Amino acid sequence: MVCISSSEPVFNFAAGPGMMPRDVLRQAREELLEWQRSGMSVMEMPFSGEVFQAIQQQAQQDLRELLGVPADYRILFLQGGASAQFALLPMNLLPAGATTDYADTGHWSRKAIAEASRYVRINVAASGAARDYRQIPTQADWQLTPGAGYCHITSNETADGLAYHWLPETGEVPLVADMTSDFLSRPLAVERFGVIYAGAQKNIGPAGLTIVIIRDDLLRPARPETPSAFSYRVQAESNGRFNTPLTYAVYIAGLVFQWLKRQGGLSVMAECNRRKSAKLYEAIDGSDFYLCRSCALDRSRMNVCFHLADDALTGEFLRQASEQGLLHLKGHPAVGGVRASLYNAMPEAGVDALIAFLHAFAARHA
Ligand SMILES: *Cc1c(COP(=O)(O)O)cnc(C)c1O
Repeated sequence: MVCISSSEPVFNFAAGPGMMPRDVLRQAREELLEWQRSGMSVMEMPFSGEVFQAIQQQAQQDLRELLGVPADYRILFLQGGASAQFALLPMNLLPAGATTDYADTGHWSRKAIAEASRYVRINVAASGAARDYRQIPTQADWQLTPGAGYCHITSNETADGLAYHWLPETGEVPLVADMTSDFLSRPLAVERFGVIYAGAQKNIGPAGLTIVIIRDDLLRPARPETPSAFSYRVQAESNGRFNTPLTYAVYIAGLVFQWLKRQGGLSVMAECNRRKSAKLYEAIDGSDFYLCRSCALDRSRMNVCFHLADDALTGEFLRQASEQGLLHLKGHPAVGGVRASLYNAMPEAGVDALIAFLHAFAARHA
């Protein structure tokens, strides 16, 4: 338990679950006991009833609009988080023994590879290992398998602080992306992908909710041993009514979609996210006290990962930061150091406060 001694506003830099827009939380509080004269909370509504179905449809429509999802793609609101999709993806898309391409760009792509390797054969088409995961392999270094079932990327490596700022060319092979930590942070060419999936807790809403966007022709019958509730096709054909969906989480995600539209949409968010992360990287690069090792071209705009030049000071850095209301800056355990997650909901004032703290801490301990 962190005790905050500061009277300054609190900023939550957690990687996930992460910060939510305050306006969304306020609206949810206002509507908690009764949603729009329906006589009940969204949490109490039968999921197949008219009212909840309208909430869900609105959320889907708003998401489709925000991202420009083409008509031949389905949007599914599923359960289980991104880690469940690591297995469900091969189970839904391919027969046993099929070959797939995966790019290994950091912690989360290695997790995806480890889980999927129980279901399909994996060719690591590109790997950042040789460069210590400090950069995304450039297209020239990729070795794609002709006829692979799909090619999987992790668009933003949450633990390592790397992101794709381009898309690999995979020809006829469907490109599949785990976008858990940068979904809705920037505009997206959905038509370049076969499947996009994202757990909600980083940049969308409550944990558990998982969004899958899939091109119609990939909605194949899942392998027979796949639980029906986890069959993309069953879920698409039943319009999410096969089993009880995460009704309250869908409602909150819908509020986030509306909030994003009020902000001006994803190009406005992309510009905010670029500006917030650029000033933080500039502060890090401008000081000998802090080090960001990732290649400048591939840096994440969502998760800014860095180290103190003197690693022994990291504990003190984190302690003083939390006292001042700058919370959850600890790096992923697999990577160490410091990580500032700057999702859509992080206001620029939070980044400014963190930068001021970086300078002050360095001055005190230089
Ligand atoms: C957090 C994260 C996951 C895991 O999400 P769960 O909901 O815990 O399964 C997977 N991929 C990426 C890129 C993540 O950031």
